[in-house]
Amino acid sequence: MISVEEALAKILAVVPVLDAEENPLLECLGQVLAEDVAAPVNVPAMDNSSMDGYAVRAEDIRGAAPATSSVLTVIGETPAGKVPDQEVLPGTAVRIMTGAPLPAGADAVVPFESTDEEQQRAAGSGRIGRIAVLKELRPGANIRRAGEDIRQGQVVLKAGTLLRPAEIGVLASLGKQRARVIRRPVVAVLATGDELLEPGEPLAPAKIYNSNAYSLAAQIARYGGIPKVLGIARDTVEDLTEKIRRGMDSDMLLTSAGVSRGDYDIVKDVLARHGEIAFWTIRMRPGKPMAFGLLESRQPDGSVRKVPHLGLPGNPVSSMVTFELYARPAILKMLGRSAPARPSVLATLRGRLVNTDGRRVYARVVVTQDEERFIARPTSDQSSGVLTSMALANGLAIVPENRPAVGDGETVEVQMLDWSREPWA
Ligand code: AMP
Ligand code: MG
Repeated sequence: MISVEEALAKILAVVPVLDAEENPLLECLGQVLAEDVAAPVNVPAMDNSSMDGYAVRAEDIRGAAPATSSVLTVIGETPAGKVPDQEVLPGTAVRIMTGAPLPAGADAVVPFESTDEEQQRAAGSGRIGRIAVLKELRPGANIRRAGEDIRQGQVVLKAGTLLRPAEIGVLASLGKQRARVIRRPVVAVLATGDELLEPGEPLAPAKIYNSNAYSLAAQIARYGGIPKVLGIARDTVEDLTEKIRRGMDSDMLLTSAGVSRGDYDIVKDVLARHGEIAFWTIRMRPGKPMAFGLLESRQPDGSVRKVPHLGLPGNPVSSMVTFELYARPAILKMLGRSAPARPSVLATLRGRLVNTDGRRVYARVVVTQDEERFIARPTSDQSSGVLTSMALANGLAIVPENRPAVGDGETVEVQMLDWSREPWA
């Protein structure tokens, strides 16, 4: 048996970071920049006001206070999006809106609250011709300078940066419509088994619905890959060989089931013929049996294409958990992501988790948080066939290999799958 870490290291050692593509900005969410991005413009592009108020010369309002206000002549108004046509000369002010370019001559903006504008309005005066400023301001007050956020020419986002909504917005603020990013891996999914029916087909005796292809395809999509669903291969060498062939143009192939010791577990036989395959028993539960290797196919130009293949166990929970532990990091590596580890928390266990045979246990738990700590409660049935235990869970609690049990009230490490069951989500 090999450890979880050994298995993961062997997988990551052969999975490459993929090449780059150029995408429209809104398709880049969750992708990684393939090149440094330098700013073609200043942000903001010009000096502008950060408040609604009056653009003034700071020296004109020196010493201004409620009792000793400075009265200025209002010579015009500047909304956002318009180039101002007046210059602020001594003794004058221009009414200005947030984001509007600062008129020449002005070096500060007095917010409405520091003027008598509201009093004048309350008194019913129409157009405001003169304004009393009630507070002195330093030069530069309430002004956003050109290039204050981003200077033209500056590298704003470095290659390797994950594009989240904020980075997408930064790129848009530079006027960019597209970005060069590491492309998403196409990950093929093949379910195997004579017992499988597709959802939508009527249930028949001795049959079950193929759920693994769906949970796996959804996991692929969730972590940024493009799922390519290949359907169901029957437990025959011919069908399996044919369906696997259809996955050979993908960046990775996942098969479900057929890797344990049963008579019809022929995935391993077929795979052994088409590449370098290792069969592992991994010191973990669920998900002990797994196959991993490189499938080979000869290309029209004579070269040999190698596709990483993960042969995941058939039990629905084992399939999802092994995906989390091995396929997810592989996908993130292909995407160029630098930190594939999941966040984990230390939680107080409510209940008891046992480890009967020295394998690392990944138990499905619901993590909640009270004032001072996280609490983990196992979902009731921990059998690897019970997929609803995954549907209930938001984390995987770890019972280490060398620990026979974690008891009620003891601390347990939980790898969070998501945060969505909680008020903080
Ligand atoms: P196997 O590895 O083929 O022995 O399958 C182990 C268990 O997983 C069996 O109970 C299968 O019926 C079940 N199983 C295999 N493939 C799927 C699938 N695609 N969806 C749901 N259950 C499956
Ligand atoms: Mg089977």
